[in-house]
Amino acid sequence: MSKFVGAHVSASGGVFNAVENAVAIGAKAFALFTKNQRQWSAKELDGETIEKFKKALEQSGILPKHVLPHDSYLINLGHPEADKREKSMDAFLDEVQRCEQLGLDRLNFHPGSHLKQISEDECLSNIADAMNRTLEKTQGVSLVLENTAGQGSNLGWKFEHLAQIIDKVEDKSRVGVCIDTCHMFTAGYDIRTREAYDKTWSEFEKIIGFKYLMGMHINDSKAKFASHVDRHHSLGKGEIGLDAFRFIMNDERMNDIPLILETIDETIWKDEIALLYSFEN
Ligand SMILES: [Zn+2]
Ligand SMILES: [Zn+2]
Repeated sequence: MSKFVGAHVSASGGVFNAVENAVAIGAKAFALFTKNQRQWSAKELDGETIEKFKKALEQSGILPKHVLPHDSYLINLGHPEADKREKSMDAFLDEVQRCEQLGLDRLNFHPGSHLKQISEDECLSNIADAMNRTLEKTQGVSLVLENTAGQGSNLGWKFEHLAQIIDKVEDKSRVGVCIDTCHMFTAGYDIRTREAYDKTWSEFEKIIGFKYLMGMHINDSKAKFASHVDRHHSLGKGEIGLDAFRFIMNDERMNDIPLILETIDETIWKDEIALLYSFEN
């Protein structure tokens, strides 16, 4: 078995509950927030919680590399104002340290936004700078940049944005990307037909490179192609359609990385995971 499919499950009541929630839906991978994603600060992970998480993970058979924690929505490493950027950096460092404590090896985050106050280049440099500073203070956790839909002033919707950040990161062994199929599609990268799928991913290989692909978010899209709107949908119910997901499940370039559903109806995640596995030839 070479594909590791799961969903962004709830960690409410303690991070260890995420493991149980993943197992319950037949997941072989999962994503979670290691703290409340809508608050700046959180209480430290205590020893007992850490042990419970590690034990649950070991018992589940899910490997740490197939867990893709997601950082807080409040963090903007590209913020135009230095003091706000500093605040984001502190929170980001805390997120990476939580991953270290839990024995996880990657953290998924949205690159950042220029808020129409600075240039794209300056914002991308801010992000890379924040990543370099975080990498110096931590070990064993890779920083995984997620592509965005390009809503508002969010950067990271073009492959070139991600490549530009990676280029400025000093330790290339600890940087990666997570490609969200919904974001990719509404950013203007088509994957609906075999031809479009192949073209998009060959562009990805040329501009970023598959060696940096450390995870994917598997979502259909409510919003239209190239609309730059970020609205997920259940698989097969949106504008992308099922073929793209069939291609992914048979594409060996997506082997051995977490493939995470962030689709809107969590009551059918179990079915969606089974559906994805049924696509494997
Ligand atoms: Zn996503
Ligand atoms: Zn999204």
